[in-house]
Amino acid sequence: MNGYGGNILRVNLTTGRITKEPTPPELARDFIGGRGFGAYFLYKEVPQGADPLGPDNKLIVSSGPLSGLMVPGAGKMDFTTKSPLTGGYASASLGGLLTAELKYAGIDSIILEGISPKPVYLFVDDDKIELRDAADLWGKGCIEVEKQLKEKLGEEFQIAVIGPGGENLVRFASINHDYGREAGRGGVGTVMGAKKLKAIAVRGTRSIPVADPQAFRQSALALFEACKTAEGLKPWQSYGTTIVVSWCDEVGALPTRNFSAGSFEGGKTLYGPVMREKIVVTDKGCFACPSPCGKYSHARKYDTYVEGPEYETIGMLGSNVGLSDIEDVARANLLCDDLGIDTISAGGVIGWAMECYEKGLLTQEDTGGLELKFGHAKAVFELIEQIAYRQGFGALLADGVKKAAGQMGKGSERFAIHVKGMEQSAYATHNATAMLLAYMTCDVGAHHNRAWAITYDIQVGRDQVVPEKVARVIWLQNFRPMFDCLGACRLQWVELGIDRDLYMPVLEAITGIRRTWEDLEQVGARVWNLTRMFWVREVEGFGRAWDMPSPRFYEEPPATGVTAGQITTLESVNRLLDMYYEQRGWDANGIPLPQTLENLGLAWVR
Ligand code: SF4
Repeated sequence: MNGYGGNILRVNLTTGRITKEPTPPELARDFIGGRGFGAYFLYKEVPQGADPLGPDNKLIVSSGPLSGLMVPGAGKMDFTTKSPLTGGYASASLGGLLTAELKYAGIDSIILEGISPKPVYLFVDDDKIELRDAADLWGKGCIEVEKQLKEKLGEEFQIAVIGPGGENLVRFASINHDYGREAGRGGVGTVMGAKKLKAIAVRGTRSIPVADPQAFRQSALALFEACKTAEGLKPWQSYGTTIVVSWCDEVGALPTRNFSAGSFEGGKTLYGPVMREKIVVTDKGCFACPSPCGKYSHARKYDTYVEGPEYETIGMLGSNVGLSDIEDVARANLLCDDLGIDTISAGGVIGWAMECYEKGLLTQEDTGGLELKFGHAKAVFELIEQIAYRQGFGALLADGVKKAAGQMGKGSERFAIHVKGMEQSAYATHNATAMLLAYMTCDVGAHHNRAWAITYDIQVGRDQVVPEKVARVIWLQNFRPMFDCLGACRLQWVELGIDRDLYMPVLEAITGIRRTWEDLEQVGARVWNLTRMFWVREVEGFGRAWDMPSPRFYEEPPATGVTAGQITTLESVNRLLDMYYEQRGWDANGIPLPQTLENLGLAWVR
C-alpha cells in the first residue's frame, strides 16, 4: 500500500502475544490514518462499558500516510483511547521523530491491549518485536528513562515514555518523547501506566513505498519552497507558539487566575520576545520541519533546561496560576514533562485549587500547610509533584478538576473550568462565542486544537451569535484534524499561510489516489461523527448537558482587563448549540441522526 507501513501491530500485554495484520486498504480509504485509524479501532474493538484503566481498554498508536516522508512537518502521530479523565473519546497528537521510525519499521498502528503482570517496555527493531522487562525503569522520570534507553539500545531508537504520573494513574498523565514533546491530553499516559507499559522504543530501516517518486519529489519540493519563502516564517521560527501570548493578552483571551479574566497585568514578562531574550537557547523541530517552533530554554534561576514553554503552558502554568516570571513557568514545565503530566490540565486544576483557597473554601489545614495563593511559584511546584505521586492534597487534584470539584462541593463546581471533564486549554472565552462553541463541542473535551476559532471571533465580532460562526467552527473541526489523520503538522498551513492545495499533489504522488480537500473534509466529518457516537455509547445519558461550558463564561463577566464587564448569555450558549446541532445533522439533544450517519458511511454504527 503506497504511503503506508502496511501492518497493524497487535500487542496483548496480558498474554505477551504479538501479532501483525496487514493494514486493510478500505480502512486507509475511509479513515486515511492517524486519528482516523484510532477512532475506528476504538469504536470497533473496545467493548461497551470498558473500564478505561482495565484490560479491555486499548491504546492505539497511529501514524499517517505522510508520516516519515520528506513532507513539511510529517512527524505527527496520534494516541487514541477511552479516556480515564472523561470516560469518553481521547485522542492526543505527538510530534517529533517516533512516527517516522514506526513507518520505517513497516507499522501504521500499534494496538495495545490487556494489562501486563509486571512493568515492561515494547521493543521494536524492524521485525524483532518483544516485550522487555522494565523493572529498573519503573518509578523514574521521563527524561532519565529516555536517556537510559537510548544509551542501552542506540541513539537511533525513538522512544515514547511515561513518568510517575502515568504509573500512579493520574487521570491526565501524558506520553512523552524526544525529551519534551508530549501527547498530553485526556490521560493517554494514564492508560499506558495502567497497562504497566513504561515505554515504546522503535527503530526501522525500511523505505516507505511511494506511487510516483518523481511527482512526489517535485510536489514536496514545492511545499518546502512555499514554507521557506513564507512571510510568517521568521517570526514563527523565532517565537513559535509564544507569538500569540501578547495577542491573547491584548484581546482578553489569556487565561488569568483560573479564567476569572482574560488579561494578565503581569503578562508582558511572559511574551514571546521577552522569553526569547531571557531564556531561549536554541530552536527545535519535529521530523522534516522547515519551521521549527520548539524552543529549548535555560531558566538560570533553577539551572533548569526544558523544551518550551509553549503558549499553552505559559497560559495555564503562568497567568492562570498568577505566575509572571517566565523562569518559574519553565521550571513548572520541566516538572510536568519529567513527571509525565499534562501541563494544560495541571494548570487547570491548580488554578481551581488556588481560587478555592483564596475564597476561603480551603485552608492550610486542608492543603497540608501549602499557601495556595495565585502567584506562589513554590506552591505550584509542590502541587505538581504531589499530583504526580498522588500524595497529600495533590491526590484530590490527580483525578481532574471535575471530580475534584464534585468531591469538594461548596459551590466550587461553578468555577471548575472544563467541558466533558477535560480542563479547558488556554483561551479565555468570555465573549468569544466561536471559540466557546469550539470548546463546548470539541470531541475530547475543552481542547483548542480542533477548531482554533478565536481569531474569527475578533475578525467578525466577538459577541456575534450567527450561523456563519457555527459553520466556521464545524469547517475547522472537520478540516484541521485531517492533518492528524495524514500524520503531518497543520501549523505550516495555519501559521505560515501555506496554500492547502499544495498538499493534494503530494498526497496523490504518495498514495496514487487522487483526492480533493472536500473528500478529506468528508473523512473529517466521518471521524467526528464516529467519535460522537462513541460518547453516546459509553456515557450514560450523554447529550446536550455534556456540551455546556463552565458557568463562568455566561455568569461572571471579568472584573479586569479588556473584556471587563463582557459576558456571553446562557441564551446565546443555547442558541449556538441549536444551530450547531442543526448544521451537523444531529437532533436537539446533540445525537447524530440516522440519516447523517448513513450519509457518512457510518450506518454500521447505529
Ligand atoms: Fe513540529 Fe512546530 Fe514544526 Fe509543527 S511547526 S512540525 S509542531 S516543530
